[in-house]
Amino acid sequence: MARRPLDPISQRIAAVQERFQRLTQAGLYYYNLPVAELRGGSRVVVGGRELGMYASYSYLGLLGHPRIAAAAKEAVDKFGTGTHGVRLLAGTLTLHRELEKAIADFKDTEDAVTFSSGYVTNLTLVSTLLGRRDVVLCDKLNHASIVDGCLLSGAKFWRFRHNDTGDLERLLRKAPASAAKLVAVDAVFSMDGDIIDLPAVASLCQRYGAWLMVDEAHSLGVLGKGGHGIEEHFGLRDAIDFKMGTLSKAIPSVGGYVAGRRDLISYLRHTARAYIFSAALPPAQAAAAKEAIAIICDEPERVERLQHNSQRFLSGLKSAGFDTLLSQTAIVPILCGEDEQAFQMTRACHEQGMFVLPVVSPAVPEGLARLRATVTAAHEPAEIDEAVELLARAGRSVGVLS
Ligand code: PMP
Repeated sequence: MARRPLDPISQRIAAVQERFQRLTQAGLYYYNLPVAELRGGSRVVVGGRELGMYASYSYLGLLGHPRIAAAAKEAVDKFGTGTHGVRLLAGTLTLHRELEKAIADFKDTEDAVTFSSGYVTNLTLVSTLLGRRDVVLCDKLNHASIVDGCLLSGAKFWRFRHNDTGDLERLLRKAPASAAKLVAVDAVFSMDGDIIDLPAVASLCQRYGAWLMVDEAHSLGVLGKGGHGIEEHFGLRDAIDFKMGTLSKAIPSVGGYVAGRRDLISYLRHTARAYIFSAALPPAQAAAAKEAIAIICDEPERVERLQHNSQRFLSGLKSAGFDTLLSQTAIVPILCGEDEQAFQMTRACHEQGMFVLPVVSPAVPEGLARLRATVTAAHEPAEIDEAVELLARAGRSVGVLS
């Protein structure tokens, strides 16, 4: 095949190759590591070694739960491994409707609709709702899938300073009266672990006639006494028009959903391109998600344990001298500074038995490279204390802590 050395695509590919080769040669590449085995919810086997798991989205420790595995197997026996096509045509199974009813009940809405991933859900939700004449207002730290949905929609894409409702109001005032306005925010921010000021955002949406969508990828099962999410956390009801979430984190399956008023969900079922033109969620994953929701309701102590564990981890790290930004949740950024320091810190942790990963530029601004650690309900308090000690040792050895 012909080589195109000066072509910008080739240059971009070469730049990425070079960056990762350099890291690999220095023994600092820890991405894409295959996990060979789960050992309980808090430990994994990687490269033949057992490590404490601090990079899991399985916030409630439900991955591997026997009831969920049994539900998935039963669904395969009943429906097979796929569907008959896209949801709008022959792809809808009774199981999909049961799952959507379970989500709607859990989120206290009239209806819900599922898609094949959380990423696709955001992409299709924003681009279905908005067009060129409309305005979308996004928090600067929103997840990439919301950003991509905004770009795909062609709407005017305005970003406000992170969790700054003064800045949001400034932009809402600027929007043309005739334009439809959508405010899109994460409930819990995926790199920083802090929580959106929902009461203030919702009240601005009311005042300026804007629709509100909230991405609950990291708040479902995490916030609120029963794990119902951000509205439960703030004691609000009906503050959000489009309650978006994923089925791949606290719920250990795959897929995404939007929950809301019946007419809004029906609109998505007939116009969202990811629903009309893409295959339905496989039966095993739909059944697993439905069973996981039932378990969250049956075992609310998991939510409480997660919240205790998060606070224990955060306060331990702060006492050890780490900067954890404004995190209040199970996502805990451990600030390292330059990318190189985050990579060194990762290596020190892995060598000492902790599976944790770095987030570096361009995913976060330069100078704010970090480990992004997560805790779950599956960790024992003693494991969390040991993890804090291990991190402190690693921090001192690479100069993140003095
Ligand atoms: N939204 C947020 C805030 C996320 O963090 C993620 C995934 N990390 C997604 C959406 C996409 O979800 P999924 O992995 O289910 O596609």
